[in-house]
Amino acid sequence: MTTLEKMARLAALSRFDSVGPPSGLEIDPAKVDALGRGTKYDLCSSTSTKRKVEGIDGLGDVLRGGLCHSFTGSGRCVSLFKTLYTNACPHECRYCSNAQGCKKGAKIFSYSPGELAKITVGLYRTNRIEGLFLSSGIGRDENDTMENMIETVRLLRRAHRFRGYVHLKILPGSSKEHVREAMELADRVSINLEAPSKSRLTELCPSKDYERDILARQRYVRDLSKKVALPAGQTTQMVVGAAEESDREIFDRLLFEYEVMNLKRVYFSAFSPVAGTAFEDKEEEPRWREHRLYQVDWLYRVYEMDRKEIFTAFDEDGFLQNKDPKMTIATEFFDSPIDPNSATFNELIRVPGIGPKSARRIALLRRDRKIERMRDLAALGVVTRRAGPFLKIGGKSGTTLDRWID
Ligand code: SF4
Repeated sequence: MTTLEKMARLAALSRFDSVGPPSGLEIDPAKVDALGRGTKYDLCSSTSTKRKVEGIDGLGDVLRGGLCHSFTGSGRCVSLFKTLYTNACPHECRYCSNAQGCKKGAKIFSYSPGELAKITVGLYRTNRIEGLFLSSGIGRDENDTMENMIETVRLLRRAHRFRGYVHLKILPGSSKEHVREAMELADRVSINLEAPSKSRLTELCPSKDYERDILARQRYVRDLSKKVALPAGQTTQMVVGAAEESDREIFDRLLFEYEVMNLKRVYFSAFSPVAGTAFEDKEEEPRWREHRLYQVDWLYRVYEMDRKEIFTAFDEDGFLQNKDPKMTIATEFFDSPIDPNSATFNELIRVPGIGPKSARRIALLRRDRKIERMRDLAALGVVTRRAGPFLKIGGKSGTTLDRWID
């Protein structure tokens, strides 16, 4: 058996819908499957965007219901039961398989709070999951469904004494009281922005009001966070490419979300057409666009790069090219190669192939001795093939830029 086959087998075994429900639990497989599938585009981590490998049910597969992975506030990776509470929804979001106009005889399913809490505990007790990711269509109305979702988590926490991780979606338009209750029970809450602006959202979901239904609810979470502990904070996600928006529009919204709304993470999901939806004939967005957006997000959040510097990675139409943005920024930033023996920390982390960790290791090593060759840097975790052209050691530079720029 090849390593890939072994990994696929292990992944399949780790999914409860592949091995059946825990004994003693009555679960309607069609319901679990439909409500699990309904969360396909609800992201709880950037790794959960991994799509199915052709012919193999892969780890992190989000095409079927069951398991996905996320990271807790402390950075620990946890496996989650990811599901909708109901797939009923009166909204008409043009890309969504749960939208009202897309149902065409499709069966509507809903859990009850007691049923969903029991399934979650059953899966937890049999070591299939470590937590719950609960999203939903709007159902009869947002406050009725939000109440049921909160009741599910309340039962988990109080009746079943469940201490596992819970990521709870806030439905657009939910009341402030529901937002507060959700925050008191969950580790993380999120409300999907879907688009970077009001006009772009109107192209995707004409029935949603960007300011009232979404931003106002994000503000509730931000303001209540001063009084209610929310260990893993607030996150959001945007669909990429469905509303013809540019990457720069998405990045400007991302800045607002981190700086004004105090969000922990912004996730991206490249648009992919779903049969039966209003956008079923729209072209699929290339996955690399999502990846490049995560890279600029990383430069902003982790490298703490100045926004003006990051702007240089976008072309004049506001799009990122399918190239590492750090490389594009570095070619603008550096006039000539730098000596790692005398470079500042800020210069070092701007070199492609050097991250904050390896920059700190370089600074530590320099206290004891000089860096004499590229091999010294490789031993510290520097990717010398990428860093070489930007570095000069003992008067000698690494390889030239044109060898790897593509
Ligand atoms: S609100 Fe829109 S995106 Fe959410 S479930 Fe309803 S139709 Fe889908």
